[in-house]
Amino acid sequence: MLIDSHCHLDRVDLKPYAGDFRRLMEETSAAGIGHMLCVSIDLEHYPRMRNLVAPYPQVSVSVGVHPNERGRREPTPEVLVELARDARNVAIGETGLDYYRSTGDLGWQHRRFRDHIAAARSCGKPLIVHSREAREDTLRILTEEDARDVGGVLHCFTETWEMAKAALDLGFYISFSGIVTFKTADDLRAVAAKVPRDRLLIETDSPYLAPVPHRGKSNEPRFVAAVAQCIAGLRGMSVEELAALTRDNFFCLFKDAVPVD
Ligand SMILES: [Zn+2]
Repeated sequence: MLIDSHCHLDRVDLKPYAGDFRRLMEETSAAGIGHMLCVSIDLEHYPRMRNLVAPYPQVSVSVGVHPNERGRREPTPEVLVELARDARNVAIGETGLDYYRSTGDLGWQHRRFRDHIAAARSCGKPLIVHSREAREDTLRILTEEDARDVGGVLHCFTETWEMAKAALDLGFYISFSGIVTFKTADDLRAVAAKVPRDRLLIETDSPYLAPVPHRGKSNEPRFVAAVAQCIAGLRGMSVEELAALTRDNFFCLFKDAVPVD
């Protein structure tokens, strides 16, 4: 059984499933994906996302506003905490910093990131952190806000071992997406081989970043198998062993997630 620790199910392309979300979910289960964490990117789409996954107990959700979402409703810690009071909610995010797609004065990103950390602290749930070209500020804010107390994951990790090490020292988990399978990702594969086995997670970030050999397609949770296979190979373990340890790590970090048998 594999777990997709980060996907956006409300954005997955349903064309291969004749537009039927239920068929996507059936085929995902049939492919051995036992659990998914469907991640929020803004408050406007959140209610629709939450309704879409409601019939599927194998899907947990998070609530948060992505650092690239501008001009949307700004989330206060109170609103985030209120929305996280939901039996299916297991995390706050995704949040973080992105200096690749946003430029100029990014004080608003910093404030929003700090508000998410405050919300996570107040509801006792882990953070899902997105960080792109913002290594130093991400680590600085996590440290300043004592994010060590709440814990979380650096998702879709694409940075250096030094950053991974700093995040691990803060008690964070590291999650790898399909990027680890890309031809040019040798440095990232070296990082994926080195992350301690009790801090490793895998994800698709569907519908983005489809792994080899699905490049060019819309990504979906069952393609997490390609990420698992790649990392298992790097670490000299079987896919089954990698699946088991990333499953244990998932339920250890997201302690409110309920496994479905
Ligand atoms: Zn995402």
